[in-house]
Amino acid sequence: AADAVSSDSLTVMGGGLVGSLLALYLARRGYSVDVFERRADLRRAGAEEGRSINLALSDRGWKALEGVGIGEEVRQVAIPMYRRVMHDQQGQLTFQPYGKENQAIYSVSRAGLNQKLLDLAEANPQIRLHFNQQCTHVDLRERRLKLRDVTTNTEQTRTFQRLFAADGAFSAVRAAMQKTDRYEYSQSFLEYGYKELNIEPGPDGQWQMEKNALHIWPRGQYMMIALPNLDGSFNCTLFFPYEGENSFAALQTDEQVLAFFQKVFPDVVPLLPDLATEFFQNPTGSLVTIRCYPWAFADEVVLLGDASHAIVPFYGQGMNAGFEDCSVLDSLIEEYHNDWHAVFAAFQQRRKPDADAIADLAIYNFEEMRDRVADPRFLLQKKIESKISAQYPDQWMPLYSQVTFSHMPYAQALANGKRQESIMGRLMQHIQTEADYDLPEVQQLVQQEMNQ
Ligand code: FAD
Repeated sequence: AADAVSSDSLTVMGGGLVGSLLALYLARRGYSVDVFERRADLRRAGAEEGRSINLALSDRGWKALEGVGIGEEVRQVAIPMYRRVMHDQQGQLTFQPYGKENQAIYSVSRAGLNQKLLDLAEANPQIRLHFNQQCTHVDLRERRLKLRDVTTNTEQTRTFQRLFAADGAFSAVRAAMQKTDRYEYSQSFLEYGYKELNIEPGPDGQWQMEKNALHIWPRGQYMMIALPNLDGSFNCTLFFPYEGENSFAALQTDEQVLAFFQKVFPDVVPLLPDLATEFFQNPTGSLVTIRCYPWAFADEVVLLGDASHAIVPFYGQGMNAGFEDCSVLDSLIEEYHNDWHAVFAAFQQRRKPDADAIADLAIYNFEEMRDRVADPRFLLQKKIESKISAQYPDQWMPLYSQVTFSHMPYAQALANGKRQESIMGRLMQHIQTEADYDLPEVQQLVQQEMNQ
């Protein structure tokens, strides 16, 4: 029999990053919240292996965390990364700051952040967390859902009033929405997979490379990155084609892996003592972009986070965008005085163009990271851009900063970025060195562009 639920009780599906933060926001508005999570309580079970274990958190994410009062606490365990450090095939380094002085993106532990959010949720008397509960079916018309207890393999049916789906890229709630008439849905996989590898701490728990940086080994058709952890280790992620000359398919033995790394990433090989073992033991993850619409079903269901917009990880914005969903939804609850029909409608209208924009930007940034950051002309262009930005701070914010260090809607950032790229294309024809920026004819051109 279906459980009776009080009319002001809200149901959140998924207790991952977005679901646990969302529960805190809803509870602050006075609602009673039930969160259902398929996995075991990760505070007891330990972090799952093989998943990306650190993430880059930036301004949009911080704002959402501050909205529930945990910004400062998370900052204590976050590592600021002020610049990209590019490693070339000879181990030579070049550098590119992310923003202005003191602007940084932050490396945080995925499991640590999720645990903190769950701790807060558990301490809140209005929130009830239910682990090992997998949603297997949603009946939209009857407002009923099925939950399978994964430990006992038993199933229960529950009714719900309002369902917030934060159950990730392969959302079960979205699967029910996809069966409704004229539902728009697409999923697209890159021909690249990712593999996580681990750089151990140095002898005294020291970082074996620059700590406050995001490291990149750009190699044209593929790349590796590394983000620091608090214990002195780094998580490396290799983004690599599934097939082809240099690909997962081409590396089948320990010797092949070692020889390949020795050839293309020589400076990192001594830091990866378990390279071949990890390479074959750790799973290869796939990279998907998911777009869908609508995100809401009447005043009954809404999708958030990866459930509505899974993106590839190259802008470091997936979680940040999901967290921003929570702050936007919260502001709309305020604006529409808890009229859920209006809140859900406004939410999807507001956020869909932004989700599409960040999905496009994330794919664009993949090309930039794996290929263009190794190009001296590109790095020169970035330097010129920061000069323009310093000279015209009110008129020019680099695209990366608009996405990462601002709260401007992503769609607006993308439109500005396209405009700026065409301006840079025109200017760079007159620039060969950094000093050329000060040439009178270049200054005149810049001024003209600014006055357009
Ligand atoms: P998830 O984190 O997927 O959580 C969904 C939750 O729902 C999970 O706990 C899951 O167990 C649960 N669930 C799933 N199905 C069911 C079901 N049927 N019933 C009940 N529960 C269910 N983002 C950044 O901002 N910065 C980064 O640097 C970054 N790096 C990344 C690197 C990689 C390699 C990848 C793959 C992603 C990265 N992301 C990054 C993106 C980020 O991981 C996601 O955007 C974020 O995890 C989305 O959170 P979510 O809560 O919406 O979904």
